[in-house]
Amino acid sequence: MEDIGKSLTEQMQRHNWSKRYNELVETALNDPDVKRFLAENKHLLTKDDVMKSISKLYEYVTIKQKMAQGEQTFAPGYLPTLAVSKHQIEVVYVPSEQLLAKRAKQELDARVKMIALPKSMRQAQLVDYDRSEERNEAFRAALQFTNDYAKEPKKFHKGLYLEGSFGVGKTYLLAAIANDLAKRGYKTTLVHFPSFAVDIKGSIGQNKTTEYLERLKKAPILMLDDIGADSLSSWIRDDVLGVILQYRMQEELPTFFSSNLSFEQLENEYLAINNRGEAEPLKALRIMERIKFLADEYHIVGKNRRNP
Ligand code: ADP
Ligand code: MG
Repeated sequence: MEDIGKSLTEQMQRHNWSKRYNELVETALNDPDVKRFLAENKHLLTKDDVMKSISKLYEYVTIKQKMAQGEQTFAPGYLPTLAVSKHQIEVVYVPSEQLLAKRAKQELDARVKMIALPKSMRQAQLVDYDRSEERNEAFRAALQFTNDYAKEPKKFHKGLYLEGSFGVGKTYLLAAIANDLAKRGYKTTLVHFPSFAVDIKGSIGQNKTTEYLERLKKAPILMLDDIGADSLSSWIRDDVLGVILQYRMQEELPTFFSSNLSFEQLENEYLAINNRGEAEPLKALRIMERIKFLADEYHIVGKNRRNP
């Protein structure tokens, strides 16, 4: 940052602008905030001290004016304040409340990693969740999880497997849990599983497969959204899903799911038949064991909120 005060003083000396100089002094000293500051600090500053720091006062006043006119300053989001240090006046730039709020929001958002999810899910909140009687069980389990996890984040906590038809708010509830955990300081990865499956297949030629896989395997809290919505290859089932779940089971890392299919349907209709139409019930059983270890099943009913 250029030292405005210094360049101003130099300019004034170089050009010997005495009339202009007097105007600057007047502008600086007539500002009500400057007046108040000088009154509050009169025991610390002599008249001579003030005149030596006059360019600082002028800097303070002009920046304030710029901000009042809605102009961009050299440090957007920062407010100028005056301070005394060793008989000199300094302009100290402090972050505005808006800037602090914006930073806090960015930190919060960074704790929830959403992959291939609608942006609106960033706004999902548990308090806004519609908990009619038949949805109350899943909602209470969600609250129980967030409270238990916050109390003992190192301990294993079983996640939720949310099952229900299209549009009942399964993804919404997962996102609301993730956003709540973010407020408490915890990181969640929420991924639309069918999109992830396409991405990881596409990553094979680029040596990125391991990196993609690691991200989900090791996420402190993982949510696999819409599992069972695509047609499954044996590779995705055994070398992607199976590997992720095996690791998370061993490391006891909380894992959530949402699906249009119940446990039973997932096992028999989705996991047991590969995309070549071959039946592989034992492989399906192995994956199911891991899912059941990691999460409890909740049936969610309700109207389709996408077409009210
Ligand atoms: P699902 O994942 O079960 O198919 P979604 O979670 O995508 O359903 O919800 C469908 C739509 O309804 C979305 O647009 C979502 O934002 C909205 N929605 C769901 N639950 C709520 C809620 N409690 N409050 C407000 N909007 C909701
Ligand atoms: Mg969904």
